[in-house]
Amino acid sequence: MSKDQIVIGVDIGGTNTNIGIVDFNNNILLENSFLTNPEQGADSFAQSLSRHINKSYSKYKNDSVLEGIGIAAPGANYQNGIIESPANLKWGNVKFIELMKKHFQVPLALINDANAAALGELQFGSAKGMNNFIVLTLGTGLGTGIVVDGHLLYGENGYAGELGHAIIEKNGRQCNCGKQGCLETYVSASGIKRTVLNLLCNSNEPSEFRNMDFESITGKIISELGNNNDPIAVKAYNFTGEILGIALSNLVTFFDPKAIILSGGLVEAGNLLLRPTFTTFERYLLNIYKGKVKIIKSEMMNGKSAVLGAGSFIRENISEGINVI
Ligand SMILES: [Zn+2]
Repeated sequence: MSKDQIVIGVDIGGTNTNIGIVDFNNNILLENSFLTNPEQGADSFAQSLSRHINKSYSKYKNDSVLEGIGIAAPGANYQNGIIESPANLKWGNVKFIELMKKHFQVPLALINDANAAALGELQFGSAKGMNNFIVLTLGTGLGTGIVVDGHLLYGENGYAGELGHAIIEKNGRQCNCGKQGCLETYVSASGIKRTVLNLLCNSNEPSEFRNMDFESITGKIISELGNNNDPIAVKAYNFTGEILGIALSNLVTFFDPKAIILSGGLVEAGNLLLRPTFTTFERYLLNIYKGKVKIIKSEMMNGKSAVLGAGSFIRENISEGINVI
């Protein structure tokens, strides 16, 4: 009996890292997640990632062949296998594929996390059959994967799509990239938490947040309080959605997409975020695009699109015999 051909897709986030064991038909057989804890440094993280991969794979080891591992990460450069100065990991430049090669002898490939999410949406999600679309990943940071005329947009250095670091406010919030006023300091899971803090400081409105330790406030709590009509939580979503709506209307003027797909923790709040986003998007959209661009909430949550995208990236690279380091 021939053994199953398996690949592993990994999505390294600023908060969580997700691992998926993916079979030949692109079904995720097993998912696993652990805290990235970037403070431990890249070396120690690579060791811990390898341990988690081996643990997840152990169940399938006897009946399958591991073809390769695709790794999605912020700041990842697929051309040289380096994770370059990721704002929310603070590792500087890390030869990540080289680090992982100490632990695995199979082909490895690195891909930008938002690009992996775009590949995942294209092949298995809401973007099936689309030639022009954009995926926004709204987690600890804000990533952008852009597909133009059927191809992922890499740019000259492989960095196309760093919309999260577009300045939207002069002298605005301090970003982990070193600049101030970046979009992701407002529109991301961590950005909305900062907005909640600002709103609490600048008003006397009653709110459940006032009984909480700031450190304990998570995206999930903000969304729960929003659904319970907590005034601060609702205002935080309105504020965030308005900024997001303007950013999306600007994106449309650059790329003329058929759809923009929103994924990541911030979007799990659903209509709390999407309602103000749609309204603002429609208001600011240039007339020629009106009625032509769909804003879609991803159906593949919890980093699944990036895990599947990373898995399919390594599989394609192996079959084409290119870019496998
Ligand atoms: Zn920034």
